[in-house]
Amino acid sequence: MIAETMKNSARILSGAAIAERIKNEVAAEVKNLSYRPGLTVVRVGEDKASAVYVGNKIKTSAELGINSEHKHLPTETTQEELLQIVEELNNREDVDGILVQLPLPKHIDESRILESINPEKDVDGFHPVNVGRLSQGQKSLVPCTPAGVIEILKRSGIEIAGAHAVIVGRSNIVGKPMAMLLLQENATVTICHSRTRNLAEITSQADILVAAIGRAGFVRGEHIKAGATVVDVGINNVSDVNFACELFDESELEKRLNTIEKRGFTLVGDVNPKEAKAKAANFTPVPGGVGLLTVAMLMKNTVEAAKMRRKTN
Ligand code: NAP
Repeated sequence: MIAETMKNSARILSGAAIAERIKNEVAAEVKNLSYRPGLTVVRVGEDKASAVYVGNKIKTSAELGINSEHKHLPTETTQEELLQIVEELNNREDVDGILVQLPLPKHIDESRILESINPEKDVDGFHPVNVGRLSQGQKSLVPCTPAGVIEILKRSGIEIAGAHAVIVGRSNIVGKPMAMLLLQENATVTICHSRTRNLAEITSQADILVAAIGRAGFVRGEHIKAGATVVDVGINNVSDVNFACELFDESELEKRLNTIEKRGFTLVGDVNPKEAKAKAANFTPVPGGVGLLTVAMLMKNTVEAAKMRRKTN
């Protein structure tokens, strides 16, 4: 009976309403500025997912009154040519934010490019200067996805201070900045990765569990403490119908199977949603959770960068 009432009990933390609110706040702020902030997104090559992500960023900029520019370069662009383009953007007065979409083609050294961006215009927050500032608790441009996670937690009324937050994943894009942001919010932070021993023993102590692994449905019920908040950052494609049956409860299985039939895959996070919903108190869905916040936070960062560089704060 107790198990029955626990089933599917998690509150779903939808990213849509929160992302919408942040975008409205940014649009209102842009209206009050005496200039239009400018964002340039540079994309090299033909990666399909990147094309979709960049399209969203450009479209959202336009909706919020931010001037946006999309520089799409051929795959064979050399590192020197790309460095030259970044340098031009660094020197342009009308450009407040520069984002070089990752991944770059293999012949280009990503860190060399990221380090060439003026830290004041680094709206992705990946430049070592911004990473260093974040780790020292100074004002900086913060990576959009982990910043979005903090917004979801805060705006959903989830207490971070004093909570034990466990992050699975230590990438420079998600895991590490996530840890720094949660620490800044006074959580007690543990970072796990592929070499962590007894993963479930550690994750099942988490009040807030953040999964940023890149493996569909990897986090199972055994990894989750009853009543925890589970934040799923992962975005993976699942095309196997049997696997989908393990991941989804009856409330969404049919829809997911239809999606697989129509599109060939369905989007799944790094957490098994059926088991998370049964065990956690709060859970971010995929799609419709953290992913929606990333673009909203990029817009917020662009306006922040403009205000800081143009000294209009
Ligand atoms: P990544 O660079 O591949 O890092 C994955 C991390 O997971 C690594 O630190 C790795 O550990 C760890 N890991 C892998 N297998 C593990 C295991 N069996 N047990 C414990 N840890 C394990 O990935 P990422 O860029 O951080 O992205 C993570 C996920 O988030 C992906 O699904 C990605 O698509 C998604 N993502 C979403 C957004 C968004 O907007 N929502 C943005 C960025 C990324 P090691 O370091 O030891 O290898």
